[in-house]
Amino acid sequence: MAKISDILQRGLSFSFEFFPPRTPEMEETLRTTLVELETLAPSYVSVTYGAGGTTRERTHEIVVDILRTTTMTAMAHLTCAAHTRAELVEIVTRYREAGIENVLCLGGDPPADLDLPPGELRYAVELVELVREIGDFSVGVAAHPEPHPKSPTRETDRYWTARKLEKADFAITQFFFEAEHYFDLVAGLRANGVDKPVLPGIMPATNLGSITRMAELQGSEFPMWLADKLYAVGDDKEAVREVGIAEATRLCQALLDGGAPGLHFYTLNRSTATREIFARLGLREGVG
Ligand SMILES: Cc1cc2nc3c(=O)[nH]c(=O)nc-3n(C[C@H](O)[C@H](O)[C@H](O)COP(=O)(O)OP(=O)(O)OC[C@H]3O[C@@H](n4cnc5c(N)ncnc54)[C@H](O)[C@@H]3O)c2cc1C
Repeated sequence: MAKISDILQRGLSFSFEFFPPRTPEMEETLRTTLVELETLAPSYVSVTYGAGGTTRERTHEIVVDILRTTTMTAMAHLTCAAHTRAELVEIVTRYREAGIENVLCLGGDPPADLDLPPGELRYAVELVELVREIGDFSVGVAAHPEPHPKSPTRETDRYWTARKLEKADFAITQFFFEAEHYFDLVAGLRANGVDKPVLPGIMPATNLGSITRMAELQGSEFPMWLADKLYAVGDDKEAVREVGIAEATRLCQALLDGGAPGLHFYTLNRSTATREIFARLGLREGVG
């Protein structure tokens, strides 16, 4: 196992994100994806945490399984939502005892239809502090290139993200489709005195329906020019995929050219889009 803070010092970082499967079929898909993506030797991989949901225990199992059965460095996502402080202490302590060294500390978005109690910690920064108290972890946080939907202004968003990031080691961003959103975030954090690595989150738009739904949920603008390009190829699924991958590759290249310290791919537990983008970017050299 390795600490992501150390990996980030070695060069560009390329990482993949997965979510805990809910069915045996999805479980099989993830298993295959992990095998296929391991060949790319990612800098690390991460597993999401279903805030308030039923898959929470699965995050622990999958992260520990990755540690024990693969060559990849793993990071567990953890959210404040609907948890008491004591529960969070227990979860983080179990990670420490299992040898997990990386935690992504998040506020969390519990499903709106579940009537869950509020979490004892209000903001992700409090979880960063808690995790630091429990062990010698490398700690990441979320950042929102297009400000978080609950932020009253862009300025407050940048301010609170900077205050959070100064206590963490690195940030990973929500996905977005225009490189300028990422550069605006980085400039905003620097203006607030914080210069730690911010890894852009990449979600290739290979399925118009699901990507626009996800973008709406998390407050990302789905640009007209991209929607037009995708609609132009209409019902031809392969052509839609090609546009999505070509545009994601273009975005990745612009981010790397502009100085991003790496890329974080939202894989949705599939490997093909990520592998294609990797190949088109000609990646591996200088990777941490
Ligand atoms: C890379 C990545 C991975 C993610 N993984 C998951 C996951 O596994 N599970 C999941 O449920 N969700 C996940 N999310 C979504 C995330 O939980 C949501 O975006 C959530 O609504 C906010 O999380 P946060 O960590 O940014 O929260 P916070 O940092 O707590 O911020 C939430 C809001 O509060 C404001 N704020 C923060 N601190 C303060 C303060 N001290 N005073 C006043 N205002 C403040 C912020 O500006 C923001 O508007 C992920 C997001 C990203 C980018």
